[in-house]
Amino acid sequence: MKTIGLIGGMSWESSLEYYRIINETVKERLGRFHSARSIMYSVDFEEVEELQHEGKWDEATELMIDAAQRVERGGADFIIICTNTMHKMAEEVQKSIRIPLLHIADATAEKINEQGLNKVGLLGTRFTMEEDFYRQRLREKHGIEAIIPDERERQIVHDILYSELCMGEIKDISKDKFKEIIANLAANGAEGIILGCTEIPLLIKQEDYDIPLFDTTTIHAEFAVEYAIS
Ligand code: GLU
Repeated sequence: MKTIGLIGGMSWESSLEYYRIINETVKERLGRFHSARSIMYSVDFEEVEELQHEGKWDEATELMIDAAQRVERGGADFIIICTNTMHKMAEEVQKSIRIPLLHIADATAEKINEQGLNKVGLLGTRFTMEEDFYRQRLREKHGIEAIIPDERERQIVHDILYSELCMGEIKDISKDKFKEIIANLAANGAEGIILGCTEIPLLIKQEDYDIPLFDTTTIHAEFAVEYAIS
């Protein structure tokens, strides 16, 4: 079994989910007392959040490269970054290490393509929804079109992520807001919805929806396990 390297802490609430899902999946796949070989470097999210919102992406990239190199030195065979947003600098991070980085959008695209969907809605931070690094990869590498909510709804999603979910708060009123936003994406032709922020699955669940939801936390964690034991 390969050793999984995780860059976590963005936020720790979702890293906890990664750790749980990875170990549960290894147990399911291998049985008995099996658990995952893993190394996690967990950042201080206060620093990351500040750099993001001040637009200091070069510094944020340095921080991620430092984290990845620590994980590599710790003996990981490959790396996953436990957040969608911080894949903005995935290419720079990959260039700074010798071990492979398994991209969250590639893992998610594989699941979308398995279901034969071409057009999906994307929910995440404003960075993930509005910038090119995520949607362009889905389009150019995987042939998937990702549509996003309108400006007002994007702000609502972004605010719920940073002021509630990344603070460990789950509110029913926010569940209702997501329901409405997802309904609007479906009305605009989305055949599925990418929960493109690793905290969203803490708030909304597939059983409450008819439209397929792509939970990037679970998908990425399971993808890492398959890679580790293959
Ligand atoms: N975990 C979130 C994501 O998947 C947001 C936190 C962050 O900004 O990294 O994008």
